[in-house]
Amino acid sequence: MHFDRIWTGGRIATLAEDGPALIERGAVGAVRGRIAFVGAVDDLPEGWTAAETIALDGRLVTPGLIDCHTHLVFAGDRADEFEMRLRGETYETIAAAGGGIVSTVARTRAADEATLVEGALERLDRLMAEGVTAIEVKSGYGLTLDDELKMLRAARALEVRRPVEVVTSLLAAHTIPPERRDDRAGYVAEIIGSIIPAAAAEGLADAVDAFCEDGAFTPAETRAVFQAARAHDLPVRLHADQRTAGGGAALAAEFGALSADHLERTDAQGARAMAAAGTVAVLLPGAFYALRDQEKPPVALFREAGVKMAVATDCNPGSSPLTSILTAMNMAVVLFGLSIDEALAGVTREAARALGRWGDMGSLEVGKACNLAIWDATRPVELVYWLGRNPLHARIFEGEVA
Ligand SMILES: [Zn+2]
Repeated sequence: MHFDRIWTGGRIATLAEDGPALIERGAVGAVRGRIAFVGAVDDLPEGWTAAETIALDGRLVTPGLIDCHTHLVFAGDRADEFEMRLRGETYETIAAAGGGIVSTVARTRAADEATLVEGALERLDRLMAEGVTAIEVKSGYGLTLDDELKMLRAARALEVRRPVEVVTSLLAAHTIPPERRDDRAGYVAEIIGSIIPAAAAEGLADAVDAFCEDGAFTPAETRAVFQAARAHDLPVRLHADQRTAGGGAALAAEFGALSADHLERTDAQGARAMAAAGTVAVLLPGAFYALRDQEKPPVALFREAGVKMAVATDCNPGSSPLTSILTAMNMAVVLFGLSIDEALAGVTREAARALGRWGDMGSLEVGKACNLAIWDATRPVELVYWLGRNPLHARIFEGEVA
């Protein structure tokens, strides 16, 4: 066997389902950007050769990290609102006063695609510096056909500019645009009849997302959006049960959603429905933290029902100004009670599942993309333990040091 590149002598956390926790004195070999070998050095095939051999010196190797829920593309910031919230004003009162999502919508509409790309790259670089090799990016600050497509094009441009995999979600159903306040039905009809078909035709959306919540979209409106997604063969995901218990988790499950996200107020019935549908629970502790939420997602219910849990930054300018996946992992452990193993699986295996990409990424297995994070650490707990310490040693994307 001849490898283009092989890493040897590390502690390998494969994150494979039912795999060993760690392979001691392990190796990962790449051929044409895919994993061609993973296992103990002693188990390498007789007479192997490699164009390049890299010694790991006992370092921990994990799959490249996956941030499976972000709003990375936007213009401006909401630092003023942050100050208002610190003075005691709520997300809802700020939104009612013209702040919130709507203020980011105005700035995003005014920005051209190149400006959006530059802004997003600055945030993407921070995530990549912590070993992120794949990222989900949503639209949802455009809320017109042209502006939603502009956001998705900006998201797609990121993977041309950086060695990273981008998965896009069309989130036209993020909020009712301010100029359509008196025409909710008309805006939902536009999403269904115009925005989803156009995004699908241009191949700009890998999935359709919606915000099902009091003050956003009703279950009936969300259902209509999901039916349109289904008609265009696009999988769905859902922002659900964050601020109110609205049966969002069950609705996501009904449509076989890849993921339901937030879920602070999901009940046992919702958890069971998600488990049956294979819908991943994406936990977003950055928003919980920044909004000083008191209600935690029902992690015990998810475990009991067998719901897979992912962890993501929810990077956005309003409710989760967070550009650190390692901090999201720390928060998931400290605030939500995930174990270290669950937090690591949440940004690798389960994040890949939440994106519908488990066949291609999220674990170190032969045939998958050779996306690795190599750490100046020997145990996964060291990735989670510190706040503000980044132990990344090297980041490998499709077999290349990147
Ligand atoms: Zn979000």
